[in-house]
Amino acid sequence: MLFAKQNRQKIPAQIGSIEVICGSMFSGKTEELIHRLRRAPIAGLKIEVFRPKIDSRYDEFAIVSHDKNAIPAAAVEDAASILSIRSDTQVVGIDEAQFFDQQLPEVCETLANLGIRVIVAGLDKDYLGKPFGPMPGLMAVADSVTKLHAVCVVCGGEANFSFRTALHSTQVLIGEKESYEARCRICYLEGV
Ligand code: ADP
Ligand code: MG
Ligand code: ZN
Repeated sequence: MLFAKQNRQKIPAQIGSIEVICGSMFSGKTEELIHRLRRAPIAGLKIEVFRPKIDSRYDEFAIVSHDKNAIPAAAVEDAASILSIRSDTQVVGIDEAQFFDQQLPEVCETLANLGIRVIVAGLDKDYLGKPFGPMPGLMAVADSVTKLHAVCVVCGGEANFSFRTALHSTQVLIGEKESYEARCRICYLEGV
């Protein structure tokens, strides 16, 4: 007991961490990210939010969910740019993490090691069902991983796949309902 008490005194005011929110398109990743970020200022914590510049579906200065919930965010060129946060920032939010470069896991670890709570949302799989960009490495170094599911638009089941309806074969095709559908495994495989 005495040992535990001594240890507790060494714990800094805020322990850094990496939380990953992943899942298919329309699974509610951005909603969940905004939900967690909105709670931080209530706890007196200062937040900063980032998104990659590549994704310009919405407002350049915000992240916006499919339900049109929004929170201000800076669009940055690469993962390393996130390290230029203000000195008093305690919580960092990152959306569309799959579009960042492979440095993202290391950047998140650096921030977490400085005592910052890092909350990252991103697509775990691309439209071919393959791990997307830096997401696998990020999930490996994360303290917690939350995997969300959308509703399969074909059968109403739990969707874990982003099915591309548009006729393009590049990994990155920015789009929404006109280009993608949330589908369960069976309905996804039936379409390919
Ligand atoms: P993500 O960031 O994972 O793409 P968002 O958080 O932006 O998702 O949006 C989630 C919202 O999208 C849901 O709350 C719901 O209103 C809407 N939505 C539209 N299509 C679907 C679907 N097939 N399954 C679940 N939610 C959907
Ligand atoms: Mg999103
Ligand atoms: Zn289905």
